[in-house]
Amino acid sequence: MITIALSKGRIFEETVPLLAAAGIVPSEDPERSRKLILSTNRADVRLVIVRASDVPTYVQHGAADLGVAGYDVLLEHGGAGLYQPLDLEIARCRLMVAVPRGFDYHDAVKQGARLRVATKYVESAREHFARKGVHVDLIKLYGSMELAPLVGLADAIVDLVSSGGTLAANDLVAVEHVLDVSSRLVVNQAALKLKCAGLQAILDAFAGARGPAA
Ligand code: ATP
Ligand code: MG
Repeated sequence: MITIALSKGRIFEETVPLLAAAGIVPSEDPERSRKLILSTNRADVRLVIVRASDVPTYVQHGAADLGVAGYDVLLEHGGAGLYQPLDLEIARCRLMVAVPRGFDYHDAVKQGARLRVATKYVESAREHFARKGVHVDLIKLYGSMELAPLVGLADAIVDLVSSGGTLAANDLVAVEHVLDVSSRLVVNQAALKLKCAGLQAILDAFAGARGPAA
Protein backbone atom coordinates (compact mmCIF):
# COMPACT_ATOMS: atom_id res chain seq x y z
CA MET A 1 0.00 0.00 0.00
CA ILE A 2 1.22 3.52 -0.88
CA THR A 3 -0.15 6.33 1.31
CA ILE A 4 -0.09 9.93 0.05
CA ALA A 5 -0.66 12.87 2.46
CA LEU A 6 -2.43 15.92 1.07
CA SER A 7 -4.19 18.94 2.52
CA LYS A 8 -7.64 20.08 1.44
CA GLY A 9 -8.08 23.15 -0.72
CA ARG A 10 -5.53 24.40 -3.22
CA ILE A 11 -2.95 21.65 -2.68
CA PHE A 12 -5.50 18.89 -3.20
CA GLU A 13 -7.00 20.63 -6.24
CA GLU A 14 -3.64 21.31 -7.86
CA THR A 15 -2.37 17.79 -7.11
CA VAL A 16 -5.35 16.02 -8.74
CA PRO A 17 -3.94 16.49 -12.28
CA LEU A 18 -0.55 15.16 -11.14
CA LEU A 19 -2.21 12.12 -9.57
CA ALA A 20 -4.13 11.59 -12.82
CA ALA A 21 -0.82 11.55 -14.71
CA ALA A 22 0.24 8.73 -12.38
CA GLY A 23 -3.03 6.88 -13.09
CA ILE A 24 -4.44 7.70 -9.64
CA VAL A 25 -8.01 9.00 -9.29
CA PRO A 26 -9.41 9.74 -5.80
CA SER A 27 -12.73 8.01 -5.19
CA GLU A 28 -14.10 11.02 -3.26
CA ASP A 29 -13.76 14.78 -3.03
CA PRO A 30 -12.35 15.75 0.42
CA GLU A 31 -14.36 19.00 0.32
CA ARG A 32 -17.56 16.97 0.34
CA SER A 33 -16.53 13.94 2.35
CA ARG A 34 -15.71 13.92 6.04
CA LYS A 35 -13.48 10.91 5.58
CA LEU A 36 -9.81 11.44 6.33
CA ILE A 37 -8.67 8.34 4.43
CA LEU A 38 -9.74 8.34 0.80
CA SER A 39 -9.45 5.35 -1.45
CA THR A 40 -8.50 5.69 -5.10
CA ASN A 41 -9.11 3.77 -8.31
CA ARG A 42 -5.93 1.85 -7.44
CA ALA A 43 -6.25 -0.73 -4.68
CA ASP A 44 -2.60 -0.11 -3.71
CA VAL A 45 -2.87 3.69 -3.31
CA ARG A 46 -4.76 5.70 -0.69
CA LEU A 47 -4.82 9.37 0.28
CA VAL A 48 -4.82 10.80 3.80
CA ILE A 49 -6.20 14.32 4.32
CA VAL A 50 -4.25 16.34 6.93
CA ARG A 51 -3.59 19.99 7.84
CA ALA A 52 -1.17 21.64 5.40
CA SER A 53 1.40 22.14 8.16
CA ASP A 54 1.10 18.49 9.30
CA VAL A 55 2.02 16.92 5.93
CA PRO A 56 5.80 16.83 6.66
CA THR A 57 5.18 15.20 10.05
CA TYR A 58 3.11 12.35 8.58
CA VAL A 59 5.76 11.68 5.93
CA GLN A 60 8.72 12.04 8.32
CA HIS A 61 7.27 9.34 10.58
CA GLY A 62 6.31 7.08 7.68
CA ALA A 63 2.56 7.32 8.34
CA ALA A 64 2.48 8.51 4.73
CA ASP A 65 5.02 7.53 2.08
CA LEU A 66 4.58 10.68 0.02
CA GLY A 67 3.13 14.12 0.60
CA VAL A 68 2.72 17.51 -1.02
CA ALA A 69 3.70 20.48 1.14
CA GLY A 70 4.38 24.18 0.63
CA TYR A 71 8.01 25.29 0.78
CA ASP A 72 6.89 27.66 3.58
CA VAL A 73 5.68 24.68 5.61
CA LEU A 74 8.84 22.68 4.87
CA LEU A 75 11.11 25.49 6.06
CA GLU A 76 9.18 25.76 9.35
CA HIS A 77 9.25 21.98 9.80
CA GLY A 78 12.97 21.72 9.06
CA GLY A 79 12.73 18.79 6.64
CA ALA A 80 14.32 16.12 8.87
CA GLY A 81 13.78 12.61 7.49
CA LEU A 82 12.30 13.92 4.26
CA TYR A 83 13.60 13.45 0.76
CA GLN A 84 12.48 16.40 -1.41
CA PRO A 85 12.96 15.26 -4.99
CA LEU A 86 10.58 17.59 -6.83
CA ASP A 87 9.37 21.15 -6.89
CA LEU A 88 5.85 20.60 -8.25
CA GLU A 89 5.53 24.31 -9.12
CA ILE A 90 1.94 24.42 -7.83
CA ALA A 91 0.32 26.69 -5.20
CA ARG A 92 2.77 29.45 -6.06
CA CYS A 93 2.89 32.53 -3.88
CA ARG A 94 5.45 34.74 -2.14
CA LEU A 95 6.36 35.21 1.50
CA MET A 96 6.44 38.98 2.08
CA VAL A 97 6.87 41.56 4.82
CA ALA A 98 3.77 43.80 4.94
CA VAL A 99 2.93 46.91 6.97
CA PRO A 100 -0.02 49.29 7.33
CA ARG A 101 -0.29 51.76 4.45
CA GLY A 102 1.58 54.90 5.52
CA PHE A 103 4.14 53.17 7.74
CA ASP A 104 7.62 53.81 6.31
CA TYR A 105 9.17 50.39 6.85
CA HIS A 106 12.45 51.13 5.07
CA ASP A 107 12.94 54.33 7.06
CA ALA A 108 12.19 52.54 10.35
CA VAL A 109 14.79 49.92 9.42
CA LYS A 110 17.30 52.63 8.49
CA GLN A 111 16.73 54.27 11.90
CA GLY A 112 17.52 50.92 13.52
CA ALA A 113 14.06 50.62 15.06
CA ARG A 114 13.13 47.39 16.83
CA LEU A 115 10.01 46.08 15.08
CA ARG A 116 7.33 43.75 16.38
CA VAL A 117 6.53 41.29 13.61
CA ALA A 118 3.59 38.88 13.75
CA THR A 119 3.79 35.71 11.67
CA LYS A 120 3.02 32.03 11.33
CA TYR A 121 6.45 31.63 9.67
CA VAL A 122 8.83 32.37 12.55
CA GLU A 123 11.77 30.32 11.23
CA SER A 124 11.72 31.94 7.78
CA ALA A 125 11.12 35.38 9.31
CA ARG A 126 13.96 35.00 11.82
CA GLU A 127 16.34 33.98 9.04
CA HIS A 128 15.22 36.86 6.80
CA PHE A 129 15.56 39.65 9.36
CA ALA A 130 18.88 38.28 10.64
CA ARG A 131 20.21 38.32 7.07
CA LYS A 132 18.96 41.92 6.63
CA GLY A 133 20.27 42.99 10.04
CA VAL A 134 16.80 44.14 11.14
CA HIS A 135 16.00 43.99 14.86
CA VAL A 136 12.70 42.21 15.44
CA ASP A 137 10.57 40.69 18.14
CA LEU A 138 8.66 37.85 16.51
CA ILE A 139 5.11 37.11 17.62
CA LYS A 140 3.86 33.66 16.63
CA LEU A 141 0.32 33.53 15.22
CA TYR A 142 -1.60 30.67 13.59
CA GLY A 143 -3.70 32.67 11.13
CA SER A 144 -5.29 36.03 10.22
CA MET A 145 -1.90 37.76 10.46
CA GLU A 146 -3.39 40.80 8.67
CA LEU A 147 -5.27 41.71 11.82
CA ALA A 148 -2.19 42.08 14.04
CA PRO A 149 -0.98 45.54 12.85
CA LEU A 150 -4.55 46.87 12.74
CA VAL A 151 -5.09 46.33 16.47
CA GLY A 152 -1.59 47.20 17.69
CA LEU A 153 -0.27 43.69 18.22
CA ALA A 154 2.56 44.21 15.72
CA ASP A 155 4.22 46.81 13.47
CA ALA A 156 4.53 44.41 10.55
CA ILE A 157 3.62 40.91 9.44
CA VAL A 158 5.33 38.21 7.41
CA ASP A 159 2.71 36.38 5.37
CA LEU A 160 2.03 34.62 2.08
CA VAL A 161 0.81 36.85 -0.72
CA SER A 162 -0.53 35.86 -4.11
CA SER A 163 -2.87 38.51 -5.54
CA GLY A 164 -2.41 40.97 -2.68
CA GLY A 165 -6.18 41.22 -2.31
CA THR A 166 -6.24 40.29 1.37
CA LEU A 167 -3.50 42.83 2.19
CA ALA A 168 -5.30 45.59 0.27
CA ALA A 169 -8.62 44.78 1.94
CA ASN A 170 -6.93 45.41 5.30
CA ASP A 171 -4.99 48.55 4.25
CA LEU A 172 -1.66 46.76 4.28
CA VAL A 173 1.09 46.95 1.69
CA ALA A 174 3.89 44.47 0.94
CA VAL A 175 7.26 46.18 1.43
CA GLU A 176 9.85 43.40 1.23
CA HIS A 177 10.19 40.02 -0.46
CA VAL A 178 11.23 37.14 1.80
CA LEU A 179 11.06 34.16 -0.55
CA ASP A 180 9.21 32.55 -3.45
CA VAL A 181 7.00 29.64 -2.44
CA SER A 182 5.61 26.67 -4.32
CA SER A 183 4.67 23.18 -3.21
CA ARG A 184 7.04 20.25 -3.24
CA LEU A 185 6.77 16.52 -3.22
CA VAL A 186 8.20 15.01 -0.05
CA VAL A 187 9.06 11.34 0.34
CA ASN A 188 9.81 9.23 3.39
CA GLN A 189 13.43 8.12 3.00
CA ALA A 190 12.90 4.57 4.30
CA ALA A 191 9.78 4.08 2.17
CA LEU A 192 11.70 5.07 -0.94
CA LYS A 193 14.01 2.10 -0.34
CA LEU A 194 11.29 -0.38 0.64
CA LYS A 195 8.70 0.56 -1.98
CA CYS A 196 11.12 1.76 -4.60
CA ALA A 197 9.36 0.65 -7.78
CA GLY A 198 5.88 1.84 -6.80
CA LEU A 199 7.05 5.20 -5.50
CA GLN A 200 9.47 5.82 -8.37
CA ALA A 201 6.67 5.37 -10.92
CA ILE A 202 4.63 8.03 -9.12
CA LEU A 203 7.65 10.37 -8.85
CA ASP A 204 8.32 10.01 -12.57
CA ALA A 205 4.70 10.69 -13.50
CA PHE A 206 4.61 13.78 -11.24
CA ALA A 207 7.89 15.02 -12.72
CA GLY A 208 6.49 14.69 -16.23
CA ALA A 209 3.23 16.46 -15.43
CA ARG A 210 4.29 19.23 -13.04
CA GLY A 211 4.24 22.90 -13.82
CA PRO A 212 1.54 25.52 -14.16
CA ALA A 213 -1.41 24.46 -16.28
CA ALA A 214 -1.64 27.91 -17.86
P1 ATP B 1 -4.27 25.62 7.50
O1 ATP B 1 -5.56 25.96 6.81
O2 ATP B 1 -4.16 24.19 7.91
O3 ATP B 1 -3.86 26.59 8.56
P2 ATP B 1 -2.97 26.81 5.28
O4 ATP B 1 -3.86 27.99 5.41
O5 ATP B 1 -1.50 27.07 5.18
O6 ATP B 1 -3.14 25.74 6.42
P3 ATP B 1 -3.69 26.45 2.57
O7 ATP B 1 -4.29 27.80 2.55
O8 ATP B 1 -4.37 25.32 1.88
O9 ATP B 1 -3.45 25.96 4.03
O10 ATP B 1 -2.22 26.59 2.01
C1 ATP B 1 -1.46 25.45 1.68
C2 ATP B 1 -0.18 25.91 1.00
O11 ATP B 1 -0.50 26.62 -0.19
C3 ATP B 1 0.65 26.88 1.85
O12 ATP B 1 1.52 26.18 2.68
C4 ATP B 1 1.36 27.67 0.77
O13 ATP B 1 2.53 26.99 0.35
C5 ATP B 1 0.36 27.72 -0.35
N1 ATP B 1 -0.45 28.96 -0.34
C6 ATP B 1 -0.96 29.58 0.74
N2 ATP B 1 -1.65 30.69 0.39
C7 ATP B 1 -1.55 30.76 -0.95
C8 ATP B 1 -2.07 31.67 -1.93
N3 ATP B 1 -2.79 32.71 -1.58
N4 ATP B 1 -1.82 31.41 -3.22
C9 ATP B 1 -1.10 30.34 -3.60
N5 ATP B 1 -0.58 29.45 -2.71
C10 ATP B 1 -0.80 29.65 -1.42
MG1 MG C 1 -4.77 29.36 4.06
